[in-house]
Amino acid sequence: MPELPEVETIARALAPGLVGRLVTGLDVPDAKVLAGPKTRAAFAKVALGRAITAVARRAKLLLVHLGPHPEAPSGPGAVIAFHLKMTGRFHIAGPHDPAPDRARLLLRLDDGHSLVFSDLRRFGTARAFASPEALAAWDFYATLGPEPWDMTPQAFEAALCRRTTRVKAALLDQTLIAGVGNIYADESLFAAGVHPETPCRDLSPAKRAALLGAIQAVIARAIAAGGSTIRDYRTPDGVEGGFQNEFSVYGKAGEPCPACGRPLDSLKVAGRTSTFCPRCQKK
Ligand code: ZN
Repeated sequence: MPELPEVETIARALAPGLVGRLVTGLDVPDAKVLAGPKTRAAFAKVALGRAITAVARRAKLLLVHLGPHPEAPSGPGAVIAFHLKMTGRFHIAGPHDPAPDRARLLLRLDDGHSLVFSDLRRFGTARAFASPEALAAWDFYATLGPEPWDMTPQAFEAALCRRTTRVKAALLDQTLIAGVGNIYADESLFAAGVHPETPCRDLSPAKRAALLGAIQAVIARAIAAGGSTIRDYRTPDGVEGGFQNEFSVYGKAGEPCPACGRPLDSLKVAGRTSTFCPRCQKK
């Protein structure tokens, strides 16, 4: 599943081709993608005729920000929020490019290009909000935790010291810290020397601080590398990310620990496979 660095890479790559363009059409080859409004007509009413003002990311959501509607120039901007889920992808298609097989939604632009959202597994969603306030009021959005670099050590400390849950499960909880999934949780826990099953409140303040620092550093390195490609993730240019070549532990059970050489082990925490070093990440 694309996590924070992958969605950030996609947003940055899409922005130059989209910002300033007018949305002139909407094709929905697969109506299941529309999570709200759920009909093409209602979705189009929010999205069409507006200019794209920014392409951004919040947690694992890709946000296409739109300006005011031309019939209400002093009105609010709108937002389309895409959740890529397992296999969502974006690319910008030229005027004569054939629609890809797995296209689920296309935003037609005034320069003849289209933003194409395709998705092999069909879990991805698109939502249109008629104002920033409507986006902020979306229950999922409203409960998202801070971005890793907006999380203060004090807030992280306060959030973890009350929890009895295992630290790996806490890192995957999007209401605690946004955008961290299985890959970056495993890599951060290794970098901080924290066992994934450690109850949050048993971590020392020094370990909690080290863990937040590790999350921020690992995510920054992953963004710099263009994200991680395990299976399906590609940038809008169709190229793979590069951070999978820098993994210390993720997906490497049985291989030697890059720090101590002992074979890496794995176990399930919160239903997800966690790979760790039994020597460097003691409970
Ligand atoms: Zn080790």
